[in-house]
Amino acid sequence: MLPSSLKVIVRDWLNANHIVMMGREGNVLIDSGYCRDKALTLSRVDEVLAGQPLHWLINTHCHSDHMGGNAAIRTASGCRISIPRDEAPLIDAWDDRALWLSYAGQRCDRFSFDDTIVSGQMFEWGNLQWRAISAPGHDMAALMFFCEETGILISGDAFWQHGFGIVLPGADRMHRLAATRATLETIADLRVRLVIPGHGDPFTDIGPALERSWQRLDSFERHELRMVRHVLKVMFMFSLIDRRRLAVGELDAYLASVPLYADFNQQYLQLDTVALADLIVGDLERNGAVRRQDGFLLPA
Ligand SMILES: [Zn+2]
Repeated sequence: MLPSSLKVIVRDWLNANHIVMMGREGNVLIDSGYCRDKALTLSRVDEVLAGQPLHWLINTHCHSDHMGGNAAIRTASGCRISIPRDEAPLIDAWDDRALWLSYAGQRCDRFSFDDTIVSGQMFEWGNLQWRAISAPGHDMAALMFFCEETGILISGDAFWQHGFGIVLPGADRMHRLAATRATLETIADLRVRLVIPGHGDPFTDIGPALERSWQRLDSFERHELRMVRHVLKVMFMFSLIDRRRLAVGELDAYLASVPLYADFNQQYLQLDTVALADLIVGDLERNGAVRRQDGFLLPA
């Protein structure tokens, strides 16, 4: 179903998928993966470009798994970089907490951008017309890109085949959840035939995927603690994949060293160290996402 001018490089949870579009207006890349794997990102993108230059890199939103290759790609190609307009103040200030960097145990090479994109803007990429559409929720500044003619939606982390990116709890949570709902409603109203998500394979069963997202949203709206536990587990899993392994004996010290865990614990849970570690890692082990081997925790 994909036009020949568009290639999807499906990656993993640490690295967002890359979308490469080649056309009259130049060669465009959407999202650049995580900094740890930038060398692989560069080679995968080069392979698709097959000797052609990259002109333009665009981020759906500014999280470390989508913008982690920006600096390296800019150095290698000299390409233009555009980000969603409302991310600009965070990138200008390199706001560690708002960008979920060391505050959440994540890393990203700092980069500079050339300009910003707003909802409603039209582009010609891969000889197709694309509209930027606001996609707040997981990231309040996020954009997605829709091509009316083909029905293809590049959704970033606003909509996956099984859910959507984490939504933060806290005072603004109902606002963020309402934004998530509005984004899903926007998607339901578009004539989407194929979704290229930020993570996972492209998919066409839009109705059932929306259904799963509504259900997750309903559950988050009813139970703030579910959101808290979900964020803690997703953040820990991301960091475990990034580090590849963590000594069991270092777990408590690791959790204490990342501000997000201490903040969430103080604000929502008030657990002792052992109970907090069990809530995060115990649950991940019980559902098979994490395993223990020779004194180490490993992503399963
Ligand atoms: Zn992502």
